[in-house]
Amino acid sequence: ERAREILETVKERDETRLGVEAMELLDAYGIETPQGEIVDDPSDALSVAEEIDGNVVMKIVSPDILHKSDIGGVKVGVSNEDVYDAYEDLITRAKNYQPDANILGVQVQEMVNLDDGVETIVGMNRDPQFGPLMMFGLGGIFVEILEDTTFRVAPVAESEAETMTKEIDAAPMLRGARGADPVDIGGITETIQRLSQLVTDFPAILELDINPLVALPDGVQAVDVRLTVD
Ligand code: ADP
Ligand code: MG
Repeated sequence: ERAREILETVKERDETRLGVEAMELLDAYGIETPQGEIVDDPSDALSVAEEIDGNVVMKIVSPDILHKSDIGGVKVGVSNEDVYDAYEDLITRAKNYQPDANILGVQVQEMVNLDDGVETIVGMNRDPQFGPLMMFGLGGIFVEILEDTTFRVAPVAESEAETMTKEIDAAPMLRGARGADPVDIGGITETIQRLSQLVTDFPAILELDINPLVALPDGVQAVDVRLTVD
C-alpha cells in the first residue's frame, strides 16, 4: 500500500523517470537500503550527516540527471566538515550540466563498505514478447562495458534466482575469490524475487534498475535505483 502511494505521488508530479527519490519503493518491498535522506538545503544535509556514523556519500537528486557520476554528482567519503562545500558543489555541477534541470535536492547516505562487498545489478525491463524480464549481473558504473548479465522472465522462483547468481562470469567473486569472504547469495536471490514481485504488482513500472546492489558477507544494500513509469 505504501508502494502504491509512492507511485501515485510520482504520477501526480508528471515525471516518468525517477532516481533515488524512489528509494522508498524498495523499502516498501523489504529491500534493504542504506540509512539516508534527501534534503534541499545544506544545513539539513549536515544534520542528516551528523546522525550517520562516519563519513557519508552525497548525491545530486534530479529526474533530469539519472547517471549521477557522469556529471560528478556523487561524492563518496564526505566528512561532516565538508558537507556544506559538497552540497554547493553538487548543485553547481547540476546547473552547469543543465541550467533548467529540476533539482529535488541532495541525498545524504550512509557509506557502504565496498571493500568487503561486490557491486551487482538487479533490474527489470519489459520485453514486448516475453513480458517483464529480470536481470542480474555485475554492477557499478561499468555495467554497460562489462555486460556480465543474465535474464529470466518474472515472476522468478527462488531456485531460478539462485541459478542466476551462478550464471554470470563474475560468479566466483560472489563465492569468495582470493581469500575474500563469500557474499550473502541468499540476500541477492531474495532481492531478485522481491523486485520481481514489485514489478508484477505494478505494471506501470516499465523498467527498473538497482545499481549497485552491494552484496556483502552479511547482507545486501540497494545503494541506487532508477526507474521509468508510464
Ligand atoms: P550513478 O549510478 O547515478 O552514477 P550511484 O548512486 O550508483 O550513482 O553511485 C555511483 C557509484 O558510487 C556506485 O556504483 C558506488 O561505487 C559508489 N557509491 C554510491 N553510493 C555509495 C555508498 N552509499 N557507499 C559506498 N559507495 C557508494
Ligand atoms: Mg548507480
